[in-house]
Amino acid sequence: MKVFTKRHEIEAFLNEQRSQGMEIGFVPTMGALHEGHLSLIAYALQQTDISVCSIFVNPTQFNDKADLERYPRMPEKDLAMLAEAGCQVVFLPEVEEIYPEPDSRRFSFGLLDEVLEGARRPGHFNGVAQVVSIFFDIVKPDRAFFGSKDYQQVMVIKELVRQLQLDIEIVSCPILREADGLAMSSRNMLLTGAERKAATLIPDVLAMSRQMKVKGASIRVIRQSVMNILAKDPLYKLDYFEICDGETLKAMDTWDDAAKPVALIACFVGKIRLIDNLVY
Ligand code: AMP
Repeated sequence: MKVFTKRHEIEAFLNEQRSQGMEIGFVPTMGALHEGHLSLIAYALQQTDISVCSIFVNPTQFNDKADLERYPRMPEKDLAMLAEAGCQVVFLPEVEEIYPEPDSRRFSFGLLDEVLEGARRPGHFNGVAQVVSIFFDIVKPDRAFFGSKDYQQVMVIKELVRQLQLDIEIVSCPILREADGLAMSSRNMLLTGAERKAATLIPDVLAMSRQMKVKGASIRVIRQSVMNILAKDPLYKLDYFEICDGETLKAMDTWDDAAKPVALIACFVGKIRLIDNLVY
Protein backbone atom coordinates (compact mmCIF):
# COMPACT_ATOMS: atom_id res chain seq x y z
CA MET A 1 0.00 0.00 0.00
CA LYS A 2 1.38 3.38 -0.98
CA VAL A 3 0.90 6.28 1.44
CA PHE A 4 1.22 9.86 0.21
CA THR A 5 1.10 13.10 2.15
CA LYS A 6 2.02 15.48 -0.67
CA ARG A 7 -0.32 16.51 -3.44
CA HIS A 8 2.24 16.53 -6.26
CA GLU A 9 3.48 13.05 -5.32
CA ILE A 10 0.11 11.33 -5.41
CA GLU A 11 -0.78 13.23 -8.59
CA ALA A 12 2.38 11.98 -10.31
CA PHE A 13 1.76 8.40 -9.18
CA LEU A 14 -1.89 8.39 -10.29
CA ASN A 15 -1.07 10.06 -13.63
CA GLU A 16 1.29 7.19 -14.30
CA GLN A 17 -1.40 4.62 -13.38
CA ARG A 18 -3.98 6.38 -15.52
CA SER A 19 -1.63 6.42 -18.51
CA GLN A 20 -1.44 2.63 -18.19
CA GLY A 21 -5.23 2.43 -18.51
CA MET A 22 -6.00 1.85 -14.84
CA GLU A 23 -9.44 2.92 -13.62
CA ILE A 24 -9.30 4.81 -10.35
CA GLY A 25 -11.76 4.44 -7.50
CA PHE A 26 -11.84 6.97 -4.68
CA VAL A 27 -13.15 6.82 -1.11
CA PRO A 28 -12.85 10.10 0.81
CA THR A 29 -12.97 9.77 4.62
CA MET A 30 -12.17 11.65 7.79
CA GLY A 31 -10.47 8.62 9.32
CA ALA A 32 -11.24 6.77 12.57
CA LEU A 33 -12.22 4.04 10.18
CA HIS A 34 -14.79 1.31 10.79
CA GLU A 35 -16.39 -1.47 8.75
CA GLY A 36 -18.65 1.05 7.01
CA HIS A 37 -15.62 2.79 5.49
CA LEU A 38 -14.06 -0.56 4.62
CA SER A 39 -17.22 -1.57 2.78
CA LEU A 40 -16.71 1.45 0.50
CA ILE A 41 -13.11 0.32 -0.11
CA ALA A 42 -14.47 -3.16 -0.97
CA TYR A 43 -16.82 -1.62 -3.57
CA ALA A 44 -13.94 0.40 -5.00
CA LEU A 45 -11.79 -2.73 -5.20
CA GLN A 46 -14.57 -4.61 -6.99
CA GLN A 47 -15.41 -1.87 -9.46
CA THR A 48 -12.07 -0.21 -10.27
CA ASP A 49 -8.39 -1.15 -10.68
CA ILE A 50 -6.82 1.16 -8.09
CA SER A 51 -8.52 2.12 -4.83
CA VAL A 52 -7.52 5.43 -3.32
CA CYS A 53 -8.62 6.36 0.19
CA SER A 54 -8.10 9.81 1.65
CA ILE A 55 -8.00 10.51 5.37
CA PHE A 56 -8.49 14.16 6.14
CA VAL A 57 -10.46 15.84 8.90
CA ASN A 58 -11.63 18.81 6.88
CA PRO A 59 -11.81 21.95 9.05
CA THR A 60 -14.01 23.89 6.61
CA GLN A 61 -16.98 21.55 7.03
CA PHE A 62 -17.15 21.87 10.82
CA ASN A 63 -19.37 24.69 11.98
CA ASP A 64 -18.81 23.64 15.60
CA LYS A 65 -15.21 24.05 16.80
CA ALA A 66 -15.66 21.64 19.74
CA ASP A 67 -16.89 18.98 17.30
CA LEU A 68 -13.76 19.47 15.15
CA GLU A 69 -11.47 19.28 18.18
CA ARG A 70 -13.02 16.15 19.63
CA TYR A 71 -13.24 14.36 16.25
CA PRO A 72 -11.28 11.09 16.72
CA ARG A 73 -7.89 10.83 14.96
CA MET A 74 -6.00 7.53 14.76
CA PRO A 75 -4.00 7.41 11.53
CA GLU A 76 -1.79 4.43 12.51
CA LYS A 77 -4.78 2.19 13.18
CA ASP A 78 -6.51 3.48 10.02
CA LEU A 79 -3.47 2.62 7.87
CA ALA A 80 -3.33 -0.91 9.30
CA MET A 81 -7.03 -1.42 8.55
CA LEU A 82 -6.68 -0.10 5.00
CA ALA A 83 -3.66 -2.33 4.30
CA GLU A 84 -5.60 -5.31 5.64
CA ALA A 85 -8.57 -4.40 3.41
CA GLY A 86 -6.33 -4.38 0.32
CA CYS A 87 -6.49 -0.63 -0.34
CA GLN A 88 -3.68 0.31 -2.74
CA VAL A 89 -3.23 4.04 -2.19
CA VAL A 90 -3.79 6.32 0.82
CA PHE A 91 -3.65 10.11 0.81
CA LEU A 92 -3.06 11.59 4.26
CA PRO A 93 -2.34 15.29 3.79
CA GLU A 94 -1.88 18.06 6.36
CA VAL A 95 -4.36 20.94 6.32
CA GLU A 96 -1.82 23.30 4.65
CA GLU A 97 -1.36 20.86 1.79
CA ILE A 98 -5.07 21.03 0.92
CA TYR A 99 -5.59 24.70 1.79
CA PRO A 100 -2.33 26.57 1.08
CA GLU A 101 -4.57 29.61 1.36
CA PRO A 102 -8.15 29.93 2.63
CA ASP A 103 -10.77 28.59 0.22
CA SER A 104 -13.25 31.41 -0.40
CA ARG A 105 -15.38 29.57 -2.94
CA ARG A 106 -19.11 29.63 -2.29
CA PHE A 107 -21.24 26.90 -3.80
CA SER A 108 -24.95 27.04 -4.29
CA PHE A 109 -27.02 23.88 -3.98
CA GLY A 110 -30.49 25.39 -3.52
CA LEU A 111 -32.90 23.36 -1.38
CA LEU A 112 -30.30 20.60 -0.92
CA ASP A 113 -28.27 22.95 1.27
CA GLU A 114 -31.23 24.65 2.95
CA VAL A 115 -32.94 21.72 4.68
CA LEU A 116 -32.00 19.13 7.32
CA GLU A 117 -28.18 19.11 7.79
CA GLY A 118 -27.86 22.25 5.65
CA ALA A 119 -30.22 24.19 7.92
CA ARG A 120 -28.71 22.89 11.18
CA ARG A 121 -25.04 23.11 10.18
CA PRO A 122 -24.63 26.35 8.22
CA GLY A 123 -21.66 26.19 5.84
CA HIS A 124 -21.24 22.43 6.31
CA PHE A 125 -22.01 21.40 2.75
CA ASN A 126 -20.03 24.33 1.36
CA GLY A 127 -17.02 22.94 3.25
CA VAL A 128 -17.75 19.43 2.00
CA ALA A 129 -17.97 20.72 -1.58
CA GLN A 130 -14.68 22.61 -1.15
CA VAL A 131 -12.74 19.62 0.07
CA VAL A 132 -14.33 17.06 -2.25
CA SER A 133 -13.75 19.25 -5.31
CA ILE A 134 -10.08 19.66 -4.31
CA PHE A 135 -9.70 15.90 -3.80
CA PHE A 136 -11.45 15.18 -7.11
CA ASP A 137 -8.98 17.53 -8.78
CA ILE A 138 -6.03 15.71 -7.21
CA VAL A 139 -7.23 12.09 -7.58
CA LYS A 140 -9.28 12.51 -10.79
CA PRO A 141 -11.19 9.30 -10.05
CA ASP A 142 -13.37 7.47 -12.55
CA ARG A 143 -15.70 6.52 -9.69
CA ALA A 144 -16.09 7.86 -6.17
CA PHE A 145 -17.83 5.89 -3.44
CA PHE A 146 -19.96 7.48 -0.72
CA GLY A 147 -22.10 6.00 2.04
CA SER A 148 -25.85 6.57 1.98
CA LYS A 149 -25.66 7.04 5.75
CA ASP A 150 -24.95 10.63 4.69
CA TYR A 151 -27.95 10.66 2.36
CA GLN A 152 -28.01 14.42 1.85
CA GLN A 153 -24.25 14.53 1.30
CA VAL A 154 -24.51 12.06 -1.59
CA MET A 155 -27.13 14.31 -3.21
CA VAL A 156 -24.92 17.38 -2.73
CA ILE A 157 -21.91 15.59 -4.25
CA LYS A 158 -23.94 14.47 -7.27
CA GLU A 159 -25.08 18.06 -7.75
CA LEU A 160 -21.48 19.29 -7.35
CA VAL A 161 -20.30 16.89 -10.06
CA ARG A 162 -23.13 18.06 -12.32
CA GLN A 163 -22.36 21.76 -11.77
CA LEU A 164 -18.61 21.33 -12.30
CA GLN A 165 -19.26 19.01 -15.28
CA LEU A 166 -16.88 16.40 -13.93
CA ASP A 167 -16.69 13.01 -15.57
CA ILE A 168 -16.89 11.11 -12.27
CA GLU A 169 -19.48 8.48 -11.41
CA ILE A 170 -20.80 8.88 -7.87
CA VAL A 171 -21.65 5.50 -6.35
CA SER A 172 -23.99 5.53 -3.35
CA CYS A 173 -23.34 2.52 -1.07
CA PRO A 174 -25.57 0.96 1.62
CA ILE A 175 -25.39 1.84 5.32
CA LEU A 176 -23.42 -0.63 7.43
CA ARG A 177 -24.88 -1.19 10.90
CA GLU A 178 -23.74 -2.68 14.18
CA ALA A 179 -25.43 -5.94 15.27
CA ASP A 180 -27.99 -3.95 17.31
CA GLY A 181 -28.87 -1.76 14.31
CA LEU A 182 -26.94 1.41 15.15
CA ALA A 183 -25.40 2.86 11.97
CA MET A 184 -21.62 2.63 12.15
CA SER A 185 -20.00 6.01 12.67
CA SER A 186 -16.64 7.33 13.82
CA ARG A 187 -18.59 9.35 16.38
CA ASN A 188 -19.99 6.20 18.08
CA MET A 189 -16.69 5.72 19.91
CA LEU A 190 -17.26 9.07 21.64
CA LEU A 191 -20.43 7.79 23.35
CA THR A 192 -20.36 6.66 26.99
CA GLY A 193 -21.52 3.10 27.73
CA ALA A 194 -25.01 4.27 28.67
CA GLU A 195 -25.26 6.54 25.62
CA ARG A 196 -24.10 3.76 23.31
CA LYS A 197 -26.85 1.49 24.67
CA ALA A 198 -29.44 4.22 24.32
CA ALA A 199 -28.33 5.01 20.75
CA THR A 200 -30.11 1.93 19.37
CA LEU A 201 -33.30 3.91 19.79
CA ILE A 202 -32.36 5.74 16.57
CA PRO A 203 -32.63 2.72 14.23
CA ASP A 204 -35.55 1.49 16.35
CA VAL A 205 -37.65 4.61 15.78
CA LEU A 206 -36.77 4.57 12.07
CA ALA A 207 -37.96 0.95 11.81
CA MET A 208 -41.06 1.79 13.83
CA SER A 209 -41.85 4.71 11.50
CA ARG A 210 -41.73 2.38 8.51
CA GLN A 211 -44.03 -0.09 10.28
CA MET A 212 -46.47 2.71 11.00
CA LYS A 213 -46.45 3.73 7.34
CA VAL A 214 -47.14 0.15 6.30
CA LYS A 215 -50.11 0.13 8.68
CA GLY A 216 -51.45 3.32 7.10
CA ALA A 217 -50.44 6.01 9.61
CA SER A 218 -50.21 9.62 8.41
CA ILE A 219 -46.87 11.46 8.31
CA ARG A 220 -48.10 13.80 11.04
CA VAL A 221 -48.90 10.92 13.39
CA ILE A 222 -45.59 9.17 12.65
CA ARG A 223 -43.62 12.33 13.38
CA GLN A 224 -45.48 12.91 16.61
CA SER A 225 -44.86 9.31 17.75
CA VAL A 226 -41.13 9.54 17.05
CA MET A 227 -40.90 12.85 18.92
CA ASN A 228 -42.83 11.44 21.89
CA ILE A 229 -40.60 8.38 22.18
CA LEU A 230 -37.36 10.36 22.04
CA ALA A 231 -38.67 13.03 24.44
CA LYS A 232 -39.08 10.32 27.10
CA ASP A 233 -35.36 9.48 27.12
CA PRO A 234 -33.31 12.09 29.04
CA LEU A 235 -30.15 11.23 27.07
CA TYR A 236 -31.76 12.41 23.84
CA LYS A 237 -32.29 15.75 22.20
CA LEU A 238 -33.96 15.41 18.82
CA ASP A 239 -32.60 17.80 16.17
CA TYR A 240 -34.96 16.73 13.40
CA PHE A 241 -37.03 13.84 12.14
CA GLU A 242 -38.38 14.41 8.65
CA ILE A 243 -39.97 12.32 5.95
CA CYS A 244 -38.81 13.71 2.64
CA ASP A 245 -39.05 13.06 -1.05
CA GLY A 246 -35.89 11.01 -1.61
CA GLU A 247 -35.15 12.70 -4.90
CA THR A 248 -35.56 16.35 -3.93
CA LEU A 249 -35.38 16.29 -0.11
CA LYS A 250 -38.57 18.34 0.00
CA ALA A 251 -40.37 17.58 3.27
CA MET A 252 -43.57 15.58 2.74
CA ASP A 253 -46.75 16.36 4.67
CA THR A 254 -48.88 13.69 3.05
CA TRP A 255 -48.04 10.44 1.30
CA ASP A 256 -47.51 10.69 -2.43
CA ASP A 257 -47.45 7.47 -4.47
CA ALA A 258 -45.09 9.01 -7.02
CA ALA A 259 -42.47 9.96 -4.42
CA LYS A 260 -39.74 7.74 -3.00
CA PRO A 261 -39.97 8.64 0.70
CA VAL A 262 -36.99 8.61 3.02
CA ALA A 263 -37.02 9.23 6.77
CA LEU A 264 -34.05 11.24 8.02
CA ILE A 265 -33.12 11.79 11.64
CA ALA A 266 -30.48 13.71 13.60
CA CYS A 267 -30.26 13.76 17.36
CA PHE A 268 -27.89 14.42 20.18
CA VAL A 269 -27.19 11.46 22.42
CA GLY A 270 -25.48 13.22 25.31
CA LYS A 271 -23.11 15.66 23.57
CA ILE A 272 -22.68 13.57 20.42
CA ARG A 273 -24.75 14.29 17.33
CA LEU A 274 -25.71 11.24 15.31
CA ILE A 275 -27.58 10.97 12.00
CA ASP A 276 -29.32 8.09 10.28
CA ASN A 277 -31.94 7.48 7.61
CA LEU A 278 -34.21 4.83 6.20
CA VAL A 279 -35.53 4.63 2.66
CA TYR A 280 -39.12 3.33 2.96
P1 AMP B 1 -16.65 10.08 7.20
O1 AMP B 1 -15.30 9.56 7.54
O2 AMP B 1 -17.63 10.03 8.33
O3 AMP B 1 -16.60 11.42 6.51
O4 AMP B 1 -17.25 9.07 6.14
C1 AMP B 1 -16.56 8.77 4.95
C2 AMP B 1 -17.48 8.01 4.04
O5 AMP B 1 -17.89 6.81 4.69
C3 AMP B 1 -18.76 8.79 3.69
O6 AMP B 1 -19.10 8.56 2.33
C4 AMP B 1 -19.76 8.17 4.62
O7 AMP B 1 -21.10 8.27 4.15
C5 AMP B 1 -19.30 6.73 4.64
N1 AMP B 1 -19.83 6.04 5.81
C6 AMP B 1 -19.79 6.45 7.09
N2 AMP B 1 -20.45 5.60 7.89
C7 AMP B 1 -20.91 4.61 7.09
C8 AMP B 1 -21.69 3.44 7.31
N3 AMP B 1 -22.13 3.10 8.52
N4 AMP B 1 -21.99 2.65 6.24
C9 AMP B 1 -21.56 2.99 4.99
N5 AMP B 1 -20.83 4.09 4.73
C10 AMP B 1 -20.52 4.89 5.75
